[in-house]
Amino acid sequence: MSGGAGLSLAGVTVRYGETVAVDDVSLEVAPGEIVALLGPSGCGKSTLLRAIAGLEPLAAGSVAAGGRLLDGVPTHERDLGLMFQEHVLFDHLDVAGNVAYGPARQGRSAGERADRVAELLALVGLDGFGGRRVASLSGGEAQRVALARALAPSPSLVMLDEPLGALDRSRRDELTAVLRRVLTGLGQTALHVTHDQTEAFAVADRVAVMRDGRLVQVAPPEVVWRSPADRFVAEFVGHRNLVDGDGRLEIWPERAVWLAGADGEGRTGTVAAARFDDGEWVHEVRLDDGSVVVTRGARASAVGSSVSVSIEPEAVLVVSPPA
Ligand code: ADP
Repeated sequence: MSGGAGLSLAGVTVRYGETVAVDDVSLEVAPGEIVALLGPSGCGKSTLLRAIAGLEPLAAGSVAAGGRLLDGVPTHERDLGLMFQEHVLFDHLDVAGNVAYGPARQGRSAGERADRVAELLALVGLDGFGGRRVASLSGGEAQRVALARALAPSPSLVMLDEPLGALDRSRRDELTAVLRRVLTGLGQTALHVTHDQTEAFAVADRVAVMRDGRLVQVAPPEVVWRSPADRFVAEFVGHRNLVDGDGRLEIWPERAVWLAGADGEGRTGTVAAARFDDGEWVHEVRLDDGSVVVTRGARASAVGSSVSVSIEPEAVLVVSPPA
């Protein structure tokens, strides 16, 4: 089933008194596309999502979803699916009853509801869970049900607000893959709000990076990573080696930085810290000019030892200069 005609935001602005929480945001989400709204706490992500849902009045701008202008349309008539960090399932209904809720409100027959429930539960990996009580579910299972429930009515837009924020890391990794597979499999248009760069990159077709109420870059994950719009974006997506070079701001990706003995080529310094992380050694090297470069690789170097660091020129990324 198609995800509808996408989402269109034009100059959306939301104010709380003097605070401009969302500032002139324009964004097109194509039908079937997944866009992650990524930014630090307080940058306005939830406010924008609430504005799209019709839960906050717009100070300016307009919202259209599924090919329909939503000005003045109440939340329950906006044809949206919502999923939040805390599961907000109906405790008095079993799993099947929760997933069937939307289709029931749409007037679907009992047979259609049963088919849709079975289809959605299979998609989210909960085959056979229909008769389970909500209270008996683990956190990860409850979020799978919440996803199935949001998708069941085939809304024109699904919005997910930090949907994995309350899960431990391994559940989060599992559910990240489920989200991407299910949303793309259904061709569902989706806006996924998160402060977690790894999650945004893993789930979305494009990432919209937000800062202080404004979108600062909207691009596919690889473009945001390789060519961040500015220092803020570079740091927010996890680059740690921002190096001034040749009149431009460069990024030295941690894995591309070579660490050699003191007699090696490149800038010299001292190992300030070493830790084992994700199967690799991460070193912080304090260079002679006082700056710190982080490296990642297979070999360990002792804290305090004299080393040199260098980078292959073709591995250097450049922070986009202002247009
Ligand atoms: P995020 O979701 O990115 O963490 P929010 O959208 O919650 O950010 O908040 C954006 C800004 O709006 C923040 O400065 C926040 O303090 C402010 N804000 C959010 N909700 C309200 C509210 N109900 N009343 C006043 N200010 C608010």
